[in-house]
Amino acid sequence: MVLTGAGISAESGIRTFRDNDGLWEEHRIEDVATPQGWRANPALVWGFYQARRRQLNEVEPNPAHAALASLEEGLEHMLLITQNVDDLHERGGSKDVVHMHGQLVTLRCETSGRSEHRMDAADLTDEFLTCNCCAEPQRLRPDIVWFGEQPMFMQEIYAAVDACDVFIVIGSSGHVYPAADLVHIARAKGARTVLVNAEAPMNIGAFDEVHLGKAGELMPALVEAWLSESD
Ligand code: NAD
Repeated sequence: MVLTGAGISAESGIRTFRDNDGLWEEHRIEDVATPQGWRANPALVWGFYQARRRQLNEVEPNPAHAALASLEEGLEHMLLITQNVDDLHERGGSKDVVHMHGQLVTLRCETSGRSEHRMDAADLTDEFLTCNCCAEPQRLRPDIVWFGEQPMFMQEIYAAVDACDVFIVIGSSGHVYPAADLVHIARAKGARTVLVNAEAPMNIGAFDEVHLGKAGELMPALVEAWLSESD
């Protein structure tokens, strides 16, 4: 099982969360990544995520995304869970990706809760958009799990963590819960735990094996070694 965070997309040019003194792209996290922020200033939050959505057209997957696609290809069972809302794993060739914090390529109807894929040029301006699912089209919100909201697919994720024999974390600070706790659960169940991260994260003590450095530089050789080990 693999859990990725913002660090794996850093070398593709997408900023991580805590690069700038607790600010995300110059905004306070409470202003742009909470339900309260959305209620207080929907235009600000909408504009913030529309900019993140437009950025997807300017970035490319990096060697770490490609290495994970090769790992999936070479193993009998692998589950890739990502905290990332970008689509770089899919574009890097991964087939089975679980986005526990939502996705930028989809938008969610505020009334029905249904998500729809909306990445045409007309979907990427700062104007609010409405859904295609309700008889009277309703406002769409970013399809993102904000702080204070429940992450997606947790039942499936906990079942996989319980069953895995190796749990690998790549590019995650270990600050955001419940994702940061998954390694503790995996370890308690006897899995070997592996970390690939630019710096020592909060939960470093939970890892049996630590590789400090850039994911794009380390992952190709690590995946090659893991695949030859599993032969
Ligand atoms: P985080 O920003 O809190 O931590 C990122 C970690 O990655 C840090 O520990 C940093 O040292 C490490 N890192 C930076 N560059 C790296 C590299 N080149 N190689 C390896 N590691 C590197 O990220 P998080 O733990 O994922 O939590 C942030 C939350 O913010 C997530 O829930 C996510 O939904 C959201 N987010 C997503 C994106 C994205 O989709 N790309 C970007 C920013 C934030």
